[in-house]
Amino acid sequence: MTVNLLDFDLDGLAVFCQRLGEKRFRATQLFRWIHQRGASDFAQMSDLAKGLRDKLAGQAEIRGLTVLSQNLSCDGTIKWLFDVGDGNAVEAVFIPEDDRGTLCISSQAGCAVGCRFCSTGHQGFSRNLSSAEIVGQLWFAEHFLRRHLNRTDRVISNVVMMGMGEPLQNYDQLLPALRVMLDDHAYGLSRRRLTVSTSGVVPMMDRLAQDCPVALAVSLHAPQDALRDNLVPLNRKYPLAELLAACKRYLAHAPRDFITFEYCMLDGVNDQPEHAQQLIDLVNAHSDGKTWCKFNLIPFNPFAASGLLRSVPQRVAAFAKILSDAGIVTTVRKTRGDDIAAACGQLAGSVLDRTRVDERMAKQRTIVLKPVKEI
Ligand code: SAH
Ligand code: SF4
Repeated sequence: MTVNLLDFDLDGLAVFCQRLGEKRFRATQLFRWIHQRGASDFAQMSDLAKGLRDKLAGQAEIRGLTVLSQNLSCDGTIKWLFDVGDGNAVEAVFIPEDDRGTLCISSQAGCAVGCRFCSTGHQGFSRNLSSAEIVGQLWFAEHFLRRHLNRTDRVISNVVMMGMGEPLQNYDQLLPALRVMLDDHAYGLSRRRLTVSTSGVVPMMDRLAQDCPVALAVSLHAPQDALRDNLVPLNRKYPLAELLAACKRYLAHAPRDFITFEYCMLDGVNDQPEHAQQLIDLVNAHSDGKTWCKFNLIPFNPFAASGLLRSVPQRVAAFAKILSDAGIVTTVRKTRGDDIAAACGQLAGSVLDRTRVDERMAKQRTIVLKPVKEI
């Protein structure tokens, strides 16, 4: 099979070019053609010698993802479904705002973590995406949007790894993709505008801090281990005390001076005033007097198989107030694109499940869903 050049960061491409007898600056030129100009045909690359173009055409290709569908929401959000073979498809979402354009990207076909409130988690796991498939979502979206909007400047200013999959369980493929996103010869994103979201894979948080520190969001969803064990099963492996300690270590390298905690508001499950108070105690127990985290409350986006409900807006507002009054910066995430099932946790794509997770979850469901208290 020919090599897909979308798999390489600049160092990787330089090694590949060196094998062809080419200097590093040729790799840089090639890299710019691919990522800055969106070229997929070597014949277009007018400043590369004909001999090199022929060599490249014989050994390599720039193979993007096949788009299966595109949906446009009334709020301007666009969702693409990409074919990644073997019956698997993953989704990416573009969210335009006044001052930025954010692309939400997938890292795996399915997800093995199996969070109860997440439709990807309910689909089980099929496989990791390759670096080319991860960065290919940005490559496609950026150049599609430029053509569509008739723009030559950058359209996507922010990338969040918040689509399907747990990015830190696909670390080896994630890393080159992040490096391409950050590279000034490619997309030139700032580290502060590239966010990895994780359910808490502690050892990989430490590696990310060393290898490629970008903004970090941690999906918390519960203030104590018993509840988090149920909602985010990975908590049994990396409980809260370890997770929070890892967050503090990450901060020493992070481009921002805070970690964002995501907290999905589930009616009667984790949205009571005592949960907010427990969160404050948890955060304070790890504080050295300075603020070190922010909370982003996400109104749960329901789907039938979850058996869960969204917290009512008053409950979300009351929860946010308790945190804010304790000095913790708290925002409530606006739901975007829910008319096209593009909101957080609704990205289902299509996954060839190899884990039969839905069966297991159905068995557990009755145990987990004990409302804390009637509202
Ligand atoms: N696996 C990573 C990143 C993908 S999920 C992680 O869990 O962090 C991105 C965010 O969407 C996470 O915070 C996740 O908890 C949240 N999410 C998942 N399902 C959701 C749902 N049904 N409604 C609202 N948010 C959801
Ligand atoms: Fe996986 Fe994240 Fe969904 Fe949990 S919330 S199942 S970690 S994608």
